[in-house]
Parts: sequence; C-alpha cells; structure tokens
Amino acid sequence: MADRYIRNPFEHNYKEQPLSTGDEISRWLDFNLAKIRDGLGSVKDFANENDYDVYTGIGGVYWALKRCEKMCPGLYDESNYQLIQDVCSVCEPFITGAEKVDRQYLTGNLATIAVIGSESGLITPDDSFKILRQTGETLLKLNSGKGDDELFVGRAGWLAAVLHQTDDVQKKLEQMVRDIILVMINEGQRISKEVKAANVESVPPLMYSYHGTFYIGAAHGLAGILTILLSFHKMMNSEAKKLVVDTARWVFGLQDAEGNFPSSVWGREHKTNNLVHWCHGATGVSLLAMKLYLVDENEEDLQVARRALQCLWTRGVLRKGNGLCHGVSGNGYPFLLMYRLSGCEQTEYLQKANCFAQMTCDEAVEAAQRVPDSPFSLFEGLSGAVAFLVDIHHPKYAEFPFFPIFREFNY
Ligand SMILES: [Zn+2]
Repeated sequence: MADRYIRNPFEHNYKEQPLSTGDEISRWLDFNLAKIRDGLGSVKDFANENDYDVYTGIGGVYWALKRCEKMCPGLYDESNYQLIQDVCSVCEPFITGAEKVDRQYLTGNLATIAVIGSESGLITPDDSFKILRQTGETLLKLNSGKGDDELFVGRAGWLAAVLHQTDDVQKKLEQMVRDIILVMINEGQRISKEVKAANVESVPPLMYSYHGTFYIGAAHGLAGILTILLSFHKMMNSEAKKLVVDTARWVFGLQDAEGNFPSSVWGREHKTNNLVHWCHGATGVSLLAMKLYLVDENEEDLQVARRALQCLWTRGVLRKGNGLCHGVSGNGYPFLLMYRLSGCEQTEYLQKANCFAQMTCDEAVEAAQRVPDSPFSLFEGLSGAVAFLVDIHHPKYAEFPFFPIFREFNY
C-alpha cells in the first residue's frame, strides 16, 4: 500500500547527512511555527472548534509551544512570541478555571488540566491530586465495555497522567493506583478467557477490546495499555507482572517479516498490516518493546524494536502529514528514543531521527502529503513537528509526548 507513504529520500544515504546544528533546528522550528502562526487564525475560534484536548485541540498546541519556549529559548523567531501569548491567553484561563475535569486523557481534558496544568504550575499539586482522585474514582467504577482500560479515554490514560505528577502526588495516589491496576488486570484476564471460550487459538493472558475491536497499537490497543502498565511494574506482584510481560511478548510474536504489526486481531483488518502508525502498527509497538527492554533488559525485546524501526525507516514517511499519531514526527520519535535508550551512543539512530526532522520541513515531502484533519494540532499536525524538533535539540530528555517510556512509578 505505497499510497500511504512516500519513499524515504534518505533511505540509503542517511550516514552522509550531517547531524543538525542549532541553526538548522532553529530554521526547522521557524518553518513549522510560521505555518502554525499563519494558518491557525483566531486562537479562540480554533479552541472553540477543536476543544481543549491535547490530541487535536488547543491543549496540545499550547503544550508544544510552551515546551519550545522553555527548551529552545532564542532558537526561534521573535514573531512567534505573539503566537505563544495568544495561545496562552486562551488556554491558561481554561486550565485554571475548569470546573469539570473529565476522565479522558488524550481526547478529553484530563491531560490538559492534570498534566499540563500541574507541570506548568497553573494548578497546585493539591488540585492535581484532587482531580486525579475524582477521575480515578469514576474510572474504577467504569464498566461500559467500550474501551475502559485503554489510553485515550480509559484507565491506562489515567495512569499515564499519574506518571507526570510530583513524587508527593504520586505517593498520595498509591492505593488508587493499585486499585486501578487490579481492575485492569482482572478485566484483561476476563476478556482473554471470553475470547478463548470462543475457540480462538493463541490468546494472550490479557486482552482488551475497544468498541468490540481487539486493537494492537498504542491507540485503544495492547501497546498503549501494556506500555503504561510496565511503568508501574515495581508495584505489581510477580504474577501480575508476568501476565503483562507474557502479553507483550505475545504481541511481539505478531511481527511480520517487514517488522510491522496488525492493527487488530480476529477482525476484518488483521490479515493486512497496512498501517505504520503510532496509533496502529510498528511505531506504537516499538515503544512497548523499548519499555519492556528498560524493565527486563532482554535483548530479544530490543530486537523486536530494531525490526520495527526498520519498517518505519522504509515505510514511515507518511502522506498523512507531520503529526505524532499517524505522521512523520511520530515515526521519527522511536529513532530518537532508541538513541536515548542507547545512552546517546548509537548515533545511527540520531542520524535517522535527524532525517525525519528534516523531512518535517521538506517541500518535496510536503507536496506529496495530504493535509491532515487537524493540521495545527499536536497529534495530527504541525505542533507534533514542533515537539519532535525540540526533542531533537535535547535527545537526552526525549519522550513521546504524553506517552513516556523512561518514567517509572516508584511507590
Ligand atoms: Zn493515528
């Protein structure tokens, strides 16, 4: 399905590309920021039309711009300060004045308020604790059967929000974290048994479904849920940890000869592995493999990630734009994270990440791309490219936004 991606122009010559300098990153940032500045229009209208979430809403734009301001001061054009001011003036009153926080992490306002709000100091740690306790209570009881455990709207998203809190807030949430994990493990086992009873062969010990589909990737699927659960491995007993690890390795067993994964199993889509996305496909699963390596240090898991990255390298220059979820920046991130995981020693990964960064500003690549549904957002659009470029400048701190693999819950 070559219409989903274009040929990687650096496929065979990445070693000849010089590593980016501050000046180049500055130029790439300006390229993307100018497009956001010129295209976004009224920030207020954008917020009203797209909401305040971090996925396609103004929350994600705000996060990317503030991070750029903090991590790359002086690296971008003066004219962008006004853009940042405009976005702040719409987003900050929403974060400080929100009366109702919903339970949805990426597509609701939980990440915007509980993560951005607390990390920027717009809300106090105590407020953050209260919000997470209240949303955690809702999620503990949630039993809709439509994806209660996944990352975007469910319990894995809540756990991801907890990973971004201060030590003090995390400590106060310890019991609730245990309760949430217990519900997730029980639910995964229940669904697994249900699938086995339907005579499906090779069922992992934990399974989850989203509106009836058994997804594999980071969005709604096993890669998203298991990656977050592994950040809490220190508080799981050995039995629970084994269920999570065995399920992750079952996912790895689905990898095809090109390094990709099916977007779902046992459904109409599982026979073709067309999508090379963070949401569905090798990108999201590569992060699970890296996370499991960080926890278990088993070289075979790292091999799974390496094969997935080979697939991203050849099929990852997506036509769907430059965002994180199904775009060029999202497919560049695993290379940067692999570089960080190597202790910033394996420069091949930085070189390849650098090529993806360059492609976020390449006019030939752009000409071959379609305009995404939310062209300025973090997960679908240009704010994703800004986030990626900031991390290219600081590889030692690189993390996939709102889906960390280097963080651990320590209580
Ligand atoms: Zn996607």
